[in-house]
Amino acid sequence: MSADRIDGKAFAATVRGKVAEHVARLKAGGITPGLAVILVGEDPASEVYVRNKGRQTLEVGMNSYEHKLPADTPRAELLALIDKLNNDPAVHGILCQFPVPEHLNEAEIIAAIAPEKDVDGLHVLNAGLLATGQKGLVSCTPLGCLMLLRDRLGRLSGLNAVVVGRSNLVGKPLAQLLLRENCTVTIAHSRTKEIEALCRQADILVAAVGRAKMVRADWVKPGAAVIDVGINRIPAPERGEGKMRLVGDVDFASVAEVAGAITPVPGGVGPMTIACLLANTVTACCRANGLDEPEGLTA
Ligand code: NDP
Repeated sequence: MSADRIDGKAFAATVRGKVAEHVARLKAGGITPGLAVILVGEDPASEVYVRNKGRQTLEVGMNSYEHKLPADTPRAELLALIDKLNNDPAVHGILCQFPVPEHLNEAEIIAAIAPEKDVDGLHVLNAGLLATGQKGLVSCTPLGCLMLLRDRLGRLSGLNAVVVGRSNLVGKPLAQLLLRENCTVTIAHSRTKEIEALCRQADILVAAVGRAKMVRADWVKPGAAVIDVGINRIPAPERGEGKMRLVGDVDFASVAEVAGAITPVPGGVGPMTIACLLANTVTACCRANGLDEPEGLTA
């Protein structure tokens, strides 16, 4: 392996440390940031995510408000809860864990959350602010990717960035962030022609697709920084019958021979996502109280 391994786990711990310091300062002034997480239904993976978010929220000294609702919660009841949280001054960030049961509409839920408390950065107002280069709340995973890239590369200006994937959650906001850093950005997707050759031009290559080990060594420019957002579960018979393991969208072993720096899966982008959720909650709290924003925790 010649590439530097970007340790997202360690960097996320640093971000959480900065969040905790800022929370302590806020608490000394009588303000405790609060994050409300809504979970509808009993999806086991979502329950794990929500538990981790709650635990890490408390660890940095913030208040955590968990709202676990049954799978058959009526739409009106969920919207009424969001409205209540929007108007609760103790709550600075609100997120609803997706996916939600089929009778509920994700777009409607996102739209119902007050934009200044939308710590997931998914509200159209926040997406629009990002697209027009204004200050809003930025989606957590793209924010985490940007922090890792800035830390590794310093100034990103002028670099060629290729983002594979164009979801509202990851690909599009990350492309906007990189554009704002003065990268020359190309977004690739399932209809992109000659994607390998395109990716080979990238100084920064981001894979946010959801296809195990899709990006191989011959897609990568020597020395490029490769950010692997993908989380895929694949069978791992070497661990025993029926066992699974996590891999990214990048074929780590072969790409690490070519790239200059690379994030592993697990332990790369993943840990940054919750750290950035906490960072966004502190930012939202500071803004709500007319205070200076924490340095190094925003885009
Ligand atoms: P989506 O399914 O919403 O988007 C996937 C994107 O990949 C789409 O834009 C799609 O293109 C594109 N795509 C699909 N197949 C190909 C292909 N063969 N070649 C090129 N592009 C392709 O996924 P998300 O953005 O939500 O997530 C992407 C991955 O990141 C997933 O593995 C997810 O689990 C992971 N993830 C990880 C997070 C973390 O914290 N680390 C957080 C969020 C997501 P098109 O638009 O044309 O269909």
